[in-house]
Amino acid sequence: MAVLMVDLDDTLVDRPQAMREWAAQTAKHHPDDGGLAEWLVEWDCDGDAVRDRHDFLDGVRSRLGMTQSVDELLQRWPYEFGGHYRLDGATRTALRSTRRLGIPVVIVTNGVTAHQEAKLDAMGACDVVDGWVISEQVGVRKPDRRIFEVAAESVGQALDGSWMLGDNPTADIGGAAKAGLKTVWVNRYRRIWAGDVDPPPTFEHPASAIRVRGVQDVNCSGSVQVIA
Ligand SMILES: [Mg+2]
Repeated sequence: MAVLMVDLDDTLVDRPQAMREWAAQTAKHHPDDGGLAEWLVEWDCDGDAVRDRHDFLDGVRSRLGMTQSVDELLQRWPYEFGGHYRLDGATRTALRSTRRLGIPVVIVTNGVTAHQEAKLDAMGACDVVDGWVISEQVGVRKPDRRIFEVAAESVGQALDGSWMLGDNPTADIGGAAKAGLKTVWVNRYRRIWAGDVDPPPTFEHPASAIRVRGVQDVNCSGSVQVIA
């Protein structure tokens, strides 16, 4: 049986949108600091990458004159930010439809367990997927083949015939392709392909990717054909 593996940040959930919501909420508590929300969103990134959270919170602390230590802020961060993660209705429906066909869905994400679990909790992931594999928890990160094997094993399946939806050309697409999975690139922000494998079928939204490239045919023997 195929497994549908899906990345979390910037694939299932629009992370910049969650950041904008957190920044807007934070700015409400500091009405005298004009431009704070915009600054927080800008400070979140260092070039194309998300800024290291210690450095990010250190900057926030300075800007807002906070008395807490960065370590204290880091402890609260997963819940403060992760609490803004939401799964949109179309994606929720697409994941449920996949599972109704008997196809297990597993989220495969690189990150800190506490951070990712706070996001998964806020978006109600336990209602729409069979499980998740977080790199810190299992001691291996995408693009390593092993994390995809662990994800398949977590639902009692092998890698054969499975596929991976993700936004990162190297960690998600390159890693999964090299592990023999079918891949679909979720490109929410119209980025230019920068992977070292050929670009796979591409969609701006995960719901479209799952609907169009999803489990489209369950034949009479019960095996699943994934069209990708
Ligand atoms: Mg991602």
